[in-house]
Amino acid sequence: MQVSLGGDARPHVTATKHGWSGLLGAGRGWCSNSEAMETDERAKQVKRRFKRAVVEPKCELDHDGAWQLLIATILSAQCTDARVNMVTPKLFARFSTPAALALADVSEVETLIKSTGTFRVKAKRIIEASATIVEDFGGEVPRRLEEITRLPGVARKTGNLVLGVAYGIASGMVVDTHAGRVARRLGLTEAQDPVGVERDLTQLFHARSWIRMSHTLVLHGRYVCKSAKPRCSTCPLYELCPSAEQLSGGQPPKGRWTARADAEWTTVQSRGNNELPASAARDPS
Ligand code: SF4
Repeated sequence: MQVSLGGDARPHVTATKHGWSGLLGAGRGWCSNSEAMETDERAKQVKRRFKRAVVEPKCELDHDGAWQLLIATILSAQCTDARVNMVTPKLFARFSTPAALALADVSEVETLIKSTGTFRVKAKRIIEASATIVEDFGGEVPRRLEEITRLPGVARKTGNLVLGVAYGIASGMVVDTHAGRVARRLGLTEAQDPVGVERDLTQLFHARSWIRMSHTLVLHGRYVCKSAKPRCSTCPLYELCPSAEQLSGGQPPKGRWTARADAEWTTVQSRGNNELPASAARDPS
């Protein structure tokens, strides 16, 4: 099925479920030339600051291998990674392979994953996905986006995440609610839908940065650029962000961006449990 991205000034680009087609590369999506240059430059500066703020961007779902990550990602829909990490050790202890989960009793799986929410749908999906992996892919999570998105409950976001983290394959960018919000606030996209956001981001960043930038945007959104109360005055991107002044209520940034970046890395490393103020960063230069 093809998804048209038209309806605005972007009539030339069409996303299929598995990739891009149309005139990608012939233009810059929604930007005029001068806007595109400004956005390109902002993206470059954002990437540079993120390198210091999120030194080693990682997926926060605990897992061992592609199949466990796939299952954990399906469970993470409408649920926090922290909650999924509480559930998966028992689930994988009981069902340690795709074949085992494919044959599982659905009510037992429902009980094990209940606290992740919408557990009936999720139980069905992870059992069916495991069965498809066994029946169609020899027990291995496939390595191509067009194949992995054939699994029940797996769309582009999950496919890109698993391929990137488990196999190091940059099939696209992971756009969840955090990444989409951050990208829009930073003026890197105007798209509201994940497919449109991914299209714009993959044009702004080189493919070799896609995996790293995906995790960075998610982590920045989770710990700094929060939905309800973004921490703009301690955000290392303040000076680059077109939303900063409005969302900070006019508060200026605190200290140098490098100190704010170091503070963010401390927060990310502690998974939000050790949120030091920017002034406490180790290197105030
Ligand atoms: S300055 Fe505020 S809105 Fe902009 S990226 Fe940082 S936290 Fe988000």
